[in-house]
Parts: sequence; C-alpha cells; structure tokens
Amino acid sequence: MPVLDFLNPVKGFGVTFREMFRKVDTVMYPEDKRPTAPRFHGHHQLNRWPDGLEKCIGCELCAWACPADAIYVEGRDNMPEDRYSPGERYGHVYQINYLRCILCGMCIEACPTRALTMTNEYEIADDNRESLIWTKEQLLVPLLPGMEAPPHPMRLGNDEKDYYRLGGAGVVATARAPGMAGPGGPTGPAVDITGANELAAGEDEVAK
Ligand code: SF4
Ligand code: SF4
Repeated sequence: MPVLDFLNPVKGFGVTFREMFRKVDTVMYPEDKRPTAPRFHGHHQLNRWPDGLEKCIGCELCAWACPADAIYVEGRDNMPEDRYSPGERYGHVYQINYLRCILCGMCIEACPTRALTMTNEYEIADDNRESLIWTKEQLLVPLLPGMEAPPHPMRLGNDEKDYYRLGGAGVVATARAPGMAGPGGPTGPAVDITGANELAAGEDEVAK
C-alpha cells in the first residue's frame, strides 16, 4: 500500500467541495420556467383564418399519419347557412389523446392546410385520463381582434382557393398572443386583415 493512500478519502471529499462552489445547473421548476427551443414540440393547436373560419377541413390526414393513433377526427359538410371553414367540409369532432401522443410532429407535417401546428407549451400533465383527451374546443385557437366566431360566410374571397392566396393579397402575419411563441404561434395566425374584406372581388385581384 503506497504511503499516501490514506489521503484518498480526503481527495474524495475534495471533489464534493469543488462541486459545491460551481454554478448550479438545476432549474427550480415550476417557479423558474426557461424558454424552450423555437422548434420545440409542445401541445397542438388548431388554427383559424384571419376572418375566424377554421382551417381544418376534416380530412383526417393527421389521424392517418399518427403512429400512436392519438387523433380522432369526424368531418362534416359545411352548409351555406352553417359554415365553419372555407370549402366543403370542416372538422366537426377533433380530439387528441395525450396519453398516447409522443409529440413527434408527424400529424402537423401531414396537414394540408396548416390547420394543425404545435406550440411551445409543454405543461400538459394531469392526474386523470379524461383531462388528457383534448377536444376541439381546447385545441382551437381563440378569436383574435378582427375575427368573427363561425359559423359565418367566407369573408376573404369567393371560394376556398382565395384563402390559400392570402399571402399574395398582402394579408400578413403580425403578432401572436401574449405568452405564446414558436412556429405557427400557439394562438394561431394573428394577422393584419386590413383590406382583406375587399378580396371578394375575385381571383385576379386576390392573386395580385
Ligand atoms: S405528435 Fe405524433 S403522436 Fe402526437 S398526435 Fe401528432 S402524429 Fe400522433
Ligand atoms: S388538422 Fe389538418 S390533416 Fe387533420 S383533419 Fe384537419 S385539415 Fe385534415
């Protein structure tokens, strides 16, 4: 046994003392909440068009793309006097089961209308199964100023194609609701709809 081996226990405490004075990496959650990475996959949201109509067309592509079978959608036909989205159909029932969801993002990639996006919000834990099945009412973004609660007629054009050309018509994203961040914005596409109601003049005008 080397002569200085009796100092080994003291050396061990040396490591302990050195760590005591290092900067602490522990985050005191939930008092201290750090921002996530911009592309962090938090819970989902269902977005609206600038006039308040829903972007979801009830196509179920998100449900078919989901590897965990976590999404349930029932589409229904829009009626002229009872319209919830531009085009033929809308998502009448929409549920995401967060007991199954692995937040992989396959569903938002599959969505053809960008109706479904993900937020940066990660606080979705709960203590019962029922609360972890989120309904359309929970997922749908709130109405922002300038939006009108569906059902109502299409305000931004003659048909659904006009809605997909809003960018060309100068309808641009402005801000998200307070406390929300991330691609797509958890509270949906806050937009400047100045002049948007004049788009009904037709395709040529919308495409300018
Ligand atoms: S994030 Fe992934 S697991 Fe969750 S609902 Fe979408 S596709 Fe399914
Ligand atoms: S969220 Fe998108 S993919 Fe899913 S039903 Fe609605 S439009 Fe289709």
